[in-house]
This record gives sequence, structure tokens and C-alpha cells, in this order.
Amino acid sequence: MTPTASPAAVPTVKPSKPASERIFNFSAGPGALPEEVLRQVQQDVWNIGGSGIGILEHSHRGKVVDKVFAECEADIRKLANIPANYKILFLTGGASAQNHMIPMNFMGAGKTGDYLITGFWAQKTAEQAKKLSGKPGFGTANVACDTKDQNHSYIPADSQIKYSSSPAFVHYCSNNTLEGTEWFRIPAVPSGVPLICDTSSHMYSRPIDITKYAMVYAGAQKNLGPAGATLCIIRDDLVEAGSKDIADLLQYRTFVPELSRPNTPPVFAVYVMGLVAKWIVKNGGLAATQKHNESKAKLIYDVLDNTKFYKPHAKSDARSLMNITFRLPSDELTDKFVKEAQAQGLDGLKGHRNIGGIRASTYNAMPRAGCEALSQFMREFERKNG
Ligand code: PMP
Repeated sequence: MTPTASPAAVPTVKPSKPASERIFNFSAGPGALPEEVLRQVQQDVWNIGGSGIGILEHSHRGKVVDKVFAECEADIRKLANIPANYKILFLTGGASAQNHMIPMNFMGAGKTGDYLITGFWAQKTAEQAKKLSGKPGFGTANVACDTKDQNHSYIPADSQIKYSSSPAFVHYCSNNTLEGTEWFRIPAVPSGVPLICDTSSHMYSRPIDITKYAMVYAGAQKNLGPAGATLCIIRDDLVEAGSKDIADLLQYRTFVPELSRPNTPPVFAVYVMGLVAKWIVKNGGLAATQKHNESKAKLIYDVLDNTKFYKPHAKSDARSLMNITFRLPSDELTDKFVKEAQAQGLDGLKGHRNIGGIRASTYNAMPRAGCEALSQFMREFERKNG
């Protein structure tokens, strides 16, 4: 018998500010969205583009949604100069669904998928492949490296990665959301092997050279928009290499001729992603975004570099621009930090239960003022409690 879940209790949410005011949201995702995007959304939910109908109510086959999808794709392409032989797909099921779709499509009988495990999500991805590994119709999942020996606090050197003799693809996760580590180079893979990357928690936080990849994907809810859509950028030959023996909705090729709409897509999430892409274009593109993100992260890393009170989780050459992780001397002080920060309008700082401590996610939409406020709070908290 399938176990039945007890009904969820409804939590009490205490207001921290009057309804008209906002606070700084350091949540790892869904994360902060740009203020001007949210204001545009407010209008378009009522009536988009003078159509007399709100974005939530438009048919996904109509002209308004055609325009929304086409503009989103065009801006996503423009931002990273994505060549025509890559398709832009808007998918559902989160990044997690991709973790399953990838081995279903590309790890058929006789093929090996190589996985680089550098954190919780990379590990979860490899687990989906291991589940299929050796089953009828499927090949083998190979772990080419695993940084669990140091609690995923570092990024491995190329010499630490042991590929299988002839992988069908290599998968890695370029920003480890829980641990706060980031790849600042692209791993060297055997020549001609398709490289697939989960970029969920730092997509478009800095320039990306798509031509080095066969596929990248990212759940939107961190840097690109709200939950519900997953951006997938995939090269034509990989689309074609996918299995034809699995459900149509699990095949990438199904989404190509239908412009991501073989069935009802997450229209609202793609629409907001389009507004966020326009906002990045308007603010100078990915190079300018990188500079801005570096200067924001520096405000917090400067505190961590000059303290014995806070202990950073990530090794300094691997620390993420997007998820900043550190510990305090005790659990009591961690709880106190989170509570007092929240009282000062700094929300979402509690680290993931696997890593503990504090995690500050400073995604694209986090203003510099938020990072300034957090760094000041950290200094003051240390002065009082250190
Ligand atoms: N990959 C990474 C790097 C993530 O950070 C997350 C979510 N935190 C996921 C995958 C899973 O994403 P989703 O919840 O959209 O399935």
C-alpha cells in the first residue's frame, strides 16, 4: 500500500514589514527578483501589452504568448551570443527533471555517462543515472571524481578527474548551491565528448561560452525568474543523439519543432524570465553583471577574510559569487545571527541543513545595498559576540 501523507499544517507567517515595504532576500531559491521586473509583472498580470487580458490568462497558442517566447529566446541568445546550432528550450520539472532526462536520453545500452560530483546537487544528478545504470536498455554511470572527502569544499583539478575510456557525455554542476563553490574554469574533457552542465544557481551571473558545451540547463528560480521553467540550451547533434524509445515528453527533440510548446508550457515563468533577460541586457549584459556580482560578493568575502569568528566553508579559490557559505562558533550563535539579521531586514540566511551555518545567496537581483547591509551586520555581530 502506498503510504498516505498527513495533511500539511498551515504555518504562521509573521509580517516583518508593512505590506508596502520589502526586505533583502538572501534565499538560495526561489530568490530575489529585480524590482522593476516585479513592477512590470504587476501591470501585465492585469493586462499585458494592451490586449485586455493578463499574462496568466492568455492561451499558449496565441500571438501574445508567441511574442513573449520569441522575445525571451532572442534576449537569452543575445546575452551569451548563442549560435544557431543550439536550441533554446523552456522545460518543466525543474533542474531535477533534467537530471533524470539526461541518462534516459544519452546513456543507452553500451554507453557510459561520466559524472563529476562536487556537491549535493551533482551527487543527486549522478544518483539518477546510477538508478538506470545496468538496467535493460541502459549503459553505465561512472563517477569520474567526487569531492566528498572534504565535504565538497573545493573544485578538483583536471588531474583528479578519471574519465572512463570512452564516455558518451560528461556531466558537471558549475555552481554548487549548498556548499558555495563555483567552477571558474571549464573541466578539460576528452576530445569531442559532449559536456553537459547544470548551471542552475549561477546562470547568466557572468559570461558563458556556450560553444564549449553540448548542453547547459538551469532552473529559473535563482537567477533567471520564478520557479516553474527550466532553461535548456542544447546543441543540435545532442538533440538528435537522444533516445527515441522513451516517452515523447522526455525527448528533447519533441520540444524543438513546437518551440517548447508540445503541451501547455509554464507561460508565466517564461514571461518573467524574458523580463529578467531584458533587465540584464539593459544593465550592460553579462560582463557588466559579472563586475557587479564580484563587487557585491567581495563586500562579504572581505569580512570572511579578516576574521577568526566566521569560518568560510569553501576554499578561497573555489568560492562562489552567488552562494556564500560560512559557520559561526556554535549553533546557538548561528540561530542568534539568523534571528537578529532577520529583524534587520536580512532574510533567508540559514544554511542548508546538510552544510549548516549561514548561506547568503547574492543572485543577480540582490542589490549592492543588500550586501553592504549584510557585511555591516556581520561586522557588528562579531564585535558584540566575538
Ligand atoms: N541543481 C542545482 C545546482 C540546484 O541548486 C537545484 C535547486 N536548488 C537543483 C539542481 C534542483 O532544482 P529544482 O528544484 O528546480 O529541480
